[in-house]
Amino acid sequence: MSTKGRLYLDGVSVVFDGFRALNNLSLVVEPGEMRAVIGPNGAGKTTMMDVITGKTRPTSGTVRFGDHDLTRMDEADIANLGIGRKFQKPTVFDALTVFENLELALKAPRGPFACLRWILTGEAKARIDQVMEETGLTARAGDLAAILSHGQRQWLEIGMLLMQDPQLLLVDEPVAGMTDQETEHTAALLRRIAGERSVVVVEHDLEFVRALGRKVTVLHEGTMLSEGPIDQVQNDPRVIEVYLGR
Ligand code: ADP
Repeated sequence: MSTKGRLYLDGVSVVFDGFRALNNLSLVVEPGEMRAVIGPNGAGKTTMMDVITGKTRPTSGTVRFGDHDLTRMDEADIANLGIGRKFQKPTVFDALTVFENLELALKAPRGPFACLRWILTGEAKARIDQVMEETGLTARAGDLAAILSHGQRQWLEIGMLLMQDPQLLLVDEPVAGMTDQETEHTAALLRRIAGERSVVVVEHDLEFVRALGRKVTVLHEGTMLSEGPIDQVQNDPRVIEVYLGR
């Protein structure tokens, strides 16, 4: 299989003042795959995301994305390879409409050249319409972000990342605080996004992870404890012991 767009962590460790936040973590996410990463607090999930985006440098080990070695690259260069990250707290602009937020994201000097292409060829509006459709925000195009529901704000931010045409989208706890209906919408949205792009989702909500319906990686003490379909990992005795606490 081609390595284009494949995320590859090989023996990654991160040591903070003698404490191993990641401990020899190896992981492969294939192009177009969606992977859910779960694990108890302190398992190393955030540190893993930080290492992929260049926010934290591994103490040892290698991080690759396609042909690129990310291990010593800085954050901006990694973002320019088409790796987008959605933090838990949305950073949408309240005083702008949904449309304007998406337009702004298109002009942000991040992400691969596709964004520039859309502006130069006058396809920006079509692209914004397409992303509003994909995220379910078409009817809210002219509304200020300030009046959106919690779920809609999260989808708008996912939409802003899509404007940058990422090859890999990292999503941190997207359904925290969402209603059941919003959670379902989010699962459907992420399932649609994956395929064309790779998606890595860090999440606590196991029902949501089940709704995503893809391979799950369980982290514990900075390393991989178990990997496979949700039913398999939930029945793994090691997972039951450390994560589910029964
Ligand atoms: P998770 O996201 O799974 O809750 P984290 O990646 O945030 O876990 O943290 C893993 C461990 O590393 C935790 O014990 C945390 O306290 C520690 N840690 C994270 N960042 C730092 C840091 N900058 N300095 C020291 N320890 C840290």
